[in-house]
Order: sequence, then C-alpha cells, then structure tokens
Amino acid sequence: MGKDKGGSRKKLVYAFGGKKSEGRANMKVLLGGKGANLAEMSRLGIPVPPGFTITTEVCTDFAARGGRYPKGLESDAADHLRRVEKEMGKTFGDPANPLLVSVRSGAPMSMPGMMDTILNIGLNDATVRGLAAKTKNARMAFDSYRRFVHMYGDVVMGVPKEAFEERIHAAKERRGVRLDTDLSAEDLESLTASYKALVLERAGRAFPDDPMEQLWGAIGAVFSSWNVPRAISYRRLNKIAEHWGTAANVQAMVFGNMGATSATGVAFTRDPSTGERRFYGEYLANAQGEDVVAGIRTPLPINVAGLRDAKTTCLEREMPAAYAELVRIYERLEEHYREMQDIEFTIEEGRLWMLQTRTGKRTAMAAVRIAVEMVDEGLISKDEALLRVAPDQLNQLLHPMFDPKAARKVVAKGLAASPGAASGKVVFSADEAHEAGSRGERVILVRQETSPDDIHGMAVAAGILTARGGMTSHAAVVARGMGKCCIAGCGDAHVSAEQRAVNMNGTTVRAGEWISLDGSTGEVMLGEVPTIESEIARVVQGKLEPEKSPLYANYGRLMRWADKERRLRVRTNADTPEDARIAVAFGAEGIGLCRTEHMFFAPGRIGPMREMIVAENEEQRRRALAKLLPMQRRDFAEIFEAMDGLPVTIRTLDPPLHEFLPHTDVEIGALARDIGVSYEALKQKVESLHELNPMLGHRGCRLGIAYPEITEMQARAIFEAAAEVAARGIDVRPEVMIPLVGHHEEFTREAAVVNRIAKEVLAEGKAGAKGGKKKPAKIRYLVGTMIEIPRAALTAAEIARDAEFFSFGTNDLTQTTFGFSRDDSGRFLPMYVEKRILEADPFTTIDQGGVGLLMRMGTEAGRSVRPDLKVGICGEHGGDPASVEFCASLGLDYVSCSPYRVPIARLAAAQAALKSRGGKKGAAKRAARKGGKKAARKGAKARGKK
Ligand code: ADP
Ligand code: MG
Ligand code: MG
Repeated sequence: MGKDKGGSRKKLVYAFGGKKSEGRANMKVLLGGKGANLAEMSRLGIPVPPGFTITTEVCTDFAARGGRYPKGLESDAADHLRRVEKEMGKTFGDPANPLLVSVRSGAPMSMPGMMDTILNIGLNDATVRGLAAKTKNARMAFDSYRRFVHMYGDVVMGVPKEAFEERIHAAKERRGVRLDTDLSAEDLESLTASYKALVLERAGRAFPDDPMEQLWGAIGAVFSSWNVPRAISYRRLNKIAEHWGTAANVQAMVFGNMGATSATGVAFTRDPSTGERRFYGEYLANAQGEDVVAGIRTPLPINVAGLRDAKTTCLEREMPAAYAELVRIYERLEEHYREMQDIEFTIEEGRLWMLQTRTGKRTAMAAVRIAVEMVDEGLISKDEALLRVAPDQLNQLLHPMFDPKAARKVVAKGLAASPGAASGKVVFSADEAHEAGSRGERVILVRQETSPDDIHGMAVAAGILTARGGMTSHAAVVARGMGKCCIAGCGDAHVSAEQRAVNMNGTTVRAGEWISLDGSTGEVMLGEVPTIESEIARVVQGKLEPEKSPLYANYGRLMRWADKERRLRVRTNADTPEDARIAVAFGAEGIGLCRTEHMFFAPGRIGPMREMIVAENEEQRRRALAKLLPMQRRDFAEIFEAMDGLPVTIRTLDPPLHEFLPHTDVEIGALARDIGVSYEALKQKVESLHELNPMLGHRGCRLGIAYPEITEMQARAIFEAAAEVAARGIDVRPEVMIPLVGHHEEFTREAAVVNRIAKEVLAEGKAGAKGGKKKPAKIRYLVGTMIEIPRAALTAAEIARDAEFFSFGTNDLTQTTFGFSRDDSGRFLPMYVEKRILEADPFTTIDQGGVGLLMRMGTEAGRSVRPDLKVGICGEHGGDPASVEFCASLGLDYVSCSPYRVPIARLAAAQAALKSRGGKKGAAKRAARKGGKKAARKGAKARGKK
C-alpha cells in the first residue's frame, strides 16, 4: 500500500471501544458505517465491546493484489488484538481464559444483509472448555461453538448453510424439542462434532483449529464478500460506488446467549413506518446475533408500549435496569446524531452493550413527520429538515397506495413508469376500457404499447400495463400526466389482444380477470390488492379538512419551508382544466406546457380534426378549422379561468399528423361519408400522408409554416378566450409557444402570425364582439419558442432577437441530441446503463454533459441578446429531482412537470437552492450549525422535563 506524503506508512487499522477510539462518525468512507459509528459511540462513553477496524482501503488493495494483504497489516492487527485482550482481561486462543471475537463487514453505505459477519471466532476443542469453565456455562460455550462452525463453514469454507440447518433440525427431532434453546450442552457438543465432520466431508479439508488461522480466514472472507454477485447487483440498484470496498471490524464477543438474564435485540429510535416519536423494537432472551431477524423464535417487543396483548412480556418488564439504560443511550444517540437511529444491542448477564447504530430507513410518511418534528424539538434546522426528505419519496404520499399489510402475488415486473396503486379487470383495448369505464367498472388497460388513439381508454382506466416502451413511452408520459398508475416495458407480459389474454411467467390472465399494478415498484399482482387513498391528495383538492390530517399538517409545513427557500418556479404540464386545477392545488405556479393536440382526441372533435388534415385545399381546411375554433376557445377559456393570475404556456400544434388519421377501412369509410368524398380518394390521401420517420417529419412549426391558417385558428382561439375571460375580471397571462424550431426564420414567421391575430382580436374587444363599441382588451402576452432541436440551442442568439421566452423541450432535445428514438430506446438504453456507458437513462435524468451543455449554451446565448429572457423546461425531466437541481444551477426561471410531480419539484428546487448556498457560504453554514447545537441542547432539556 502507498505511503503518504510524510513518508510514514498509511494507517491500516483503527481502534474502537474501551479506552481508545481512533475513528469518528465522519470517517465512513475509510472505516465503513459500522466501524465509524462504533468508534463514535465509544467516544460518547456508550459501552461498546472493544475492537478494531481494518480500513476499506485494505479491501480494495486486497482485491487489486489478488488476495494479498499490504505489508505491516498483520503486525498492526496483532498489536490491536493485544489491546483488546488487555481491555477484556482475556487472551485470544488461551485455553484457560479465551477471548472470542467477531469479524463484521461494514461498507461506507449500509448494505443490510448483503455481506458477511462471523461470530465466536477463537473457539476450538480446547478453548471451548476454558470458556465453559470460566463462565460456568457449558451450554452457552457449546451453543457459541456450533454457531461458529456453522457460520465459518458456510461463509469461509463454502459449505451450504442448509446442510447445517438439516443437522440441527434432526438433533431437535431426536430430542423431541422445538427450540434451539431446548438443546442441552451435550446435545450442542455432539452437534458441533457432527458439523465439523460435515465440513471435512463437504469442503475436503479439516475445520481450522488455530484461532489465528480462523481470524485471517474470516477477514479474507469479509473482504471477498464485497465482490459476490448479490453485493454487486445491490450496489448497482442502489447506486453505491464500486470502488469503495468494505471495512472489516474485529470485535470482542459479548454473549446474549448466557441464559435468562441475557438477550439480543434491534430497535428504532422512532417508528420507521409512521415516524411517531416512540421507541420501537424487538428482542430475544438467551439468543445471539441474527436470531431476532432470522425468525428462529418469535421476538418480543422491547417495551410496554409495544405490547400486542396481555399475555406477552417485554424487555422493559423482564430486565428493567438494562432497559432503562437502553433508553438513556438511544436518547443520547438521537440527540448526538440528530437523526433517527436503527440500533443493535446485546445484554450479557444484565449488562448492556451496543453493537451498532446507523441512520434508520423509513417510509415517506415517517420521513416527513420525523423531519418536521425534529425541527420543533430543536434538534435540526429547517434547512436540514428540507434536505432530509428525498423528493422522489413524496410520490408515496401523493398517490393512492396498496395497504402495506396486504398479501401480494407478484407474477411479473416492469418499469415503474408512473406511481400509484391500481386494481381492476383486465381489458385489451381502449374501446373496451372506455365502455366498461363508463359503466363505472374499474379496469386495467393491458396493451403491447399505447398510442394517442388510446387516450379515451387510458383516461378511464384505473391503471395501464404495457409490454413495450420505456419511461418516456406514450403510455408512461400520458399516465404520469394523468397522475395514473402505469407499468411500462413489462417484458414478462406476453399480450395477445386477439385471444384476449396475457401470459406472465406462466400465469395466464384473461379479459375480465382482476390484476393489481404497483406503479412504484413495477410489480404486477394477481387479484385485487386492497388500497388506501392518499390523504394529501384529498386535502389539497378540498375533499378532506386539513385539520383532520396530521400527515398533511407535516407535509404542508415542510412544503411551505421549501417554497421560502427555492428560487426556481414550478409550473405544470396540463392539457385540461381538471389537470390544471389539481396542479394548482399541489402548488403549481403556472402552466409550462399545454399541449393543444390532446384536446382533439375528445369525442366529437376527432372528426373535424381529420377533416382538416385531409383537406385538399386551403378553403376546405379553413372550413374544418372553423369547426375546431369554438371548441379550442372553450378549452382555453376554462384553463385560463383555473389559472387566474398565473402564466399559461400554450404550444401550437406539434405532433405528426398521421397520429390523427383514420387507420382501418371502417374508419376511412365513415370519414369519407362525413366529408363527402369517395372512399378511394380518401384512402389515397391517407396513404400520401404516410411518413417514413414521422418523429422527424412534417410536424411542429413545420405544420404552421405549411398551413398558416392552422396557427391562425389556434392564435384566434387563444386570444378570443383570453379577451372573454379577462372581461370577467380574470387575470390572464397567455404565453404562446412555437414547437420544434430549428431556424430563427421559422420562429419569426410563426410569431408574426400569432402577433397579427392577437392584434386583430384584441382590437375587436372581446370574443365575437357583437357590434357595440368595446374598448380594446389589454392583455399582456408573450410569444416564445421551445428549444428542442440542437440547431436551436446553437443559434439561440438569433432566435432570442424575436422570441420572448425559451422552454427546453428536453424529451425531444435528448432524442435529437443523442439520435436515440425514444420509442425504441427501450431496446438498448437499459443495456447502456447496465454496461455503465451511461450513468442513467437520459430520458429520465438530463444528460448534463451533452443535452445539458446545449441547454447552457442556449440559455447564455439567448440572454446575451435579451437579458430578461424567461427560460424554463417542460420535458419529463421537470419532475426529476437531479434534473431540477441542474436547471437551478443553470439559472433557469422555472421547471414544468406533471401535476402529481409538482410537490417533488418544489422540494427538489428548495434542496438545490440550499445546496448551492451551502457551497458558496460554507462559513455561514458552519455558524448556523453551531446555533443548531445550542438549539439541540435546549430541546434535550425540554424533553428531559417530560
Ligand atoms: P449485519 O451488517 O448483517 O447487521 P452485523 O455485523 O451487524 O451484521 O452482525 C450480525 C449480528 O451479530 C448482529 O445482530 C450483531 O449485533 C451481532 N454481533 C456482531 N458482533 C458481535 C459481537 N462482537 N458480540 C455480540 N454480537 C455481535
Ligand atoms: Mg447489523
Ligand atoms: Mg417536442
């Protein structure tokens, strides 16, 4: 291992426990979480069995050198072992008075259950007798021995643990007993002998008797466990860095298996599912290590508050002194870490020892409650509270959720595309969904993939399951927009629409049968899993009084603090007044994207829309447009009304026209009759509109350039609606947005049409001014553009001469920057992420190096000619916390996201502001933290009085 600058050897081993602790809580990268916290606890004067930590650097070094240890490690470890022996008054390997140790893995980020720990190292046929004599407890000595041979045989020597389990099971049967604790010292002694024979037989070599050999065998196994497949995949899933490595902690054993006055247990300093401030945990008397979590016996609650019935007992009653000390310690730990802790403890003959503390995992509900209450208690500042809740976690709070207590029969797994919990009867077409939905039935729409033709079915479905498509597939985007549960890209689902059945890993589900979708995990389950409705969604929509929801009270306060901190505004992507209202309830400060095309899919509208598309000349087209005008005007008026006082960005027609065309012969026939042309003529027209690559085809502003009358109609609908609504005293702020601009001339021409119509309409007074001399309406509006083509970002300075705002359309910008088709990217993008070519799916999290660079260039160039240029984003990325943070760093004015992600974006924006402030004003923050400590002491005093 390398030397540091001073020339002295790098420190490989750190002591903890007893009188000497060299580590600290902030040394997790070097010592792992477990080692750093053991040292920290010991510094606080909390009883921790002494030991030492071999650093994570040794682990990486060990792997790099093919299993060899750095020079000096063995002698350093021997020195530390001698200190532990002195502290404990026992000697490792001494048959008369043996010291036993555990070797425990511990990575910088907690990876529960992923890596290995071995207990009771140092036992052999000689030391076990010494231990029995010294403790006058032969049963405990042999119980420890059989556990050791089992664990070591499994972890170090590769004998499957089932083989050991079979033997202990057989031993209990022979004795006619049910529990491990019913086996006598003699039973355990012969069991151990049989274990060792098993090891010899299976591993082909004898179980090592030399304690030093045992110790180094265990250390090597712990380091190697960093690279077992399950640990690797866990790190991948949880984004834990590969190069970190694990530390190995060697620690003197304490024994919870000494009899009735001994025990082992785990606890949380607050309730991890509700966040309630109550000490919560479980323990087992006369047990060791993992027994509590392994379910060998049913553990008991630690305190009276946790008792489920009058028959059971608890630690508080059985061992009141040890329990009282445990309470003192957990309070001390919470106060010190200022965070909810998950702790492990062991009681050896009435004496309490702490074996682990770490930040406890919790549900979203608990996260919010704990953060807010800790502010009230003076433990943390508001800034810290805001940083404690992961924005994405809020999802759990906003959507209806499955009852966590309910059983689940999972048959398939897909992409968790839109969170929520949905159950319903399976249907295979949008029409079926629509029909059943109108009868009030709950349905799940199951499709290979969805298209805009399916909107009506999607709108009534409780949830959507697709076999193909990624996180930004049509199904996923639309479902998120609707706040509807969706699982996309479920490769396990083989959909046969003709046979009206879907096969998932061997289970066939037919039309009409019930399934449930968990949009937060991507799990597809059989039957109807019971749900509970999200309280917060009910409160913000006025369906539940806020006073009746303590959850809302906490959430509401946290969000108010977030709004005070953030500089980035949060708007929503909403196409309907209903969506707009929900978004405003969730705190949206405007609409960042209103897609006009969705309005045309409604029944009664698709007809005139199709008529417009297949028109042979301008006159026919204008006739069809005239039918659409009043419908659009009504939609816009309703949206303006819902958004009183807030900006509304309306995008002119964007998608490829073929999405609206009739496809089947029946549909073509019907349309031909409606508009009075022959079937053949229409069929030919439809075919002529076919495009090879519609995503890059005749769409976006290219439509308005070809047919300015479309832009005219839309502008007229917008401004007539605005004038009409403004006349009713509503504050209207339209922002007209031109899509898919790549050349400034495209924008200039489209903007000219919009401005001309605006002038005309506003001069007329209000909509359809019926004679009378009305004053021209005064409405402030903007005309701007989407930046979603690389050329637009590169020539932003030219475009900004005329454009009054920019909105980055990051879905298309990602697609066009990478040249990835977002509808097909599901086939290769997961592999790119798996192979680590890309850190994350760029359709989910903005690719800062490429797409983000274009955004930066576009923003800077645009503002160089128009310093007050308003800049936002309206892609799916607007609701992704990492992307929101990036937008804040670029100095954008707002992000826009689907209604149900508005609170997530608000919190993410606050965190971005706090982090950038923290970076810039480190000194101020340190001062604030000092204040926090003072507050913490005050809080502790207040608690003490209770
Ligand atoms: P994990 O990281 O999987 O929780 P641990 O290293 O915490 O594994 O150990 C597993 C179990 O063994 C825990 O219950 C722990 O408290 C217990 N344990 C570990 N070391 C000792 C020891 N020196 N004395 C008593 N119990 C121990
Ligand atoms: Mg543990
Ligand atoms: Mg686009």
